[in-house]
Amino acid sequence: MAKKKLYFNSRTIHGGQQPDKAYGSVMPPVYFTSTYAQEKPGTHLGYEYSRSHNPTRSALEASLANIESGAHALAFASGMAAIDAVIKLLKPGDEVVSTNDLYGGTYRIFDKMFAAYGITFHFVPMGDMGAVEKHINTNTKLLWVETPTNPLMQVIDIKAMAALAEAHKLLLAVDNTFASPYLQRPLELGADIVMHSATKYLGGHSDVVLGSLVVNDTDLANRLAFIQNASGAVPGPMDAFLVLRGIKTLHVRMQRHCENGRAVAEFLAQHPNIQKVYWPGFETHPNHEVAKAQMDDFGGMISFVHKDNSLEKAVAIVSSLQVFTLAESLGGVESLAGHPASMTHASIPKEKREKTGVTDGLIRLSVGIEDSKDLIVDLTQALS
Ligand SMILES: *Cc1c(COP(=O)(O)O)cnc(C)c1O
Repeated sequence: MAKKKLYFNSRTIHGGQQPDKAYGSVMPPVYFTSTYAQEKPGTHLGYEYSRSHNPTRSALEASLANIESGAHALAFASGMAAIDAVIKLLKPGDEVVSTNDLYGGTYRIFDKMFAAYGITFHFVPMGDMGAVEKHINTNTKLLWVETPTNPLMQVIDIKAMAALAEAHKLLLAVDNTFASPYLQRPLELGADIVMHSATKYLGGHSDVVLGSLVVNDTDLANRLAFIQNASGAVPGPMDAFLVLRGIKTLHVRMQRHCENGRAVAEFLAQHPNIQKVYWPGFETHPNHEVAKAQMDDFGGMISFVHKDNSLEKAVAIVSSLQVFTLAESLGGVESLAGHPASMTHASIPKEKREKTGVTDGLIRLSVGIEDSKDLIVDLTQALS
């Protein structure tokens, strides 16, 4: 069956999947095995050792490639392990231009780990093409884009970044965790690598940590597969199974995340105690036109600032929420609230944080798929 021809909402279920060859099981078995019997040395059924390959992981990788409109996917033990593999394509002396409003863990691995190995990272506001171009030189090898950004929901023009990458012969990697392929497929827009923390929307149920990379170029896929196997940060078969199961409902969950996201964003925007709401679906959002062009909807991630913009007020609000759970992470069926300055972005120095707008008063919501009326009642009581 030519599964590529299916619409996205069917590819989440069928993309790259076939009934299991042994007994026709509709979901792939969870192959709890480290090794595989060989008939003679080198004669086997395609699997030798589970760090290199595992059939449950292969099924997940086929699904990931399909929903991201790519040719090859690789699954990793976490989103961070996937990022780690991308940077290991580089060597000392190489330079990277990255989004400045970035997932805290990504900033940490760039600045605290790989900088020590002689790779230089420039953190740049990517809404400004001139600023990006100014940091490109003959050592530059990679553009690292996260969009929408975390936690300020800026939207970066992937097509424009792809043109820049092509002009300077750079790789373009896009962290697509916040949007998910339901909203945005960067390979279709010219990116070379799509990275996911599948821990978030792809898994969708806050029950697994996993990461992935999807690419089109076979040589690039082989280089990344070499790193995946050599470094060994692979997910186990149970984790691969959980993410594969999550992906099958991605489209229905995302539809509700988007509806609830809009309801909550509009509620916050009209609330007298709220100073600012960051959500790309507003026409007044500075990157709304780019968001409309490259995303199919605007998602359920929202940040906001109370009119006091103080640490005390933000802590009081997030601590009094009852339907929203105060927790790190995002993208699960349940609504979560976070305080970036003390939680996800605590590893970024305060001056740097505040310069990009991540103030002590900023609150981030991952709007879940509950009844939006309950979410609005909860926010109403927490803000009063
Ligand atoms: C969570 C997250 C990561 C890291 O992924 P893990 O699965 O936690 O290792 C990277 N980027 C973004 C945008 C994230 O939200």
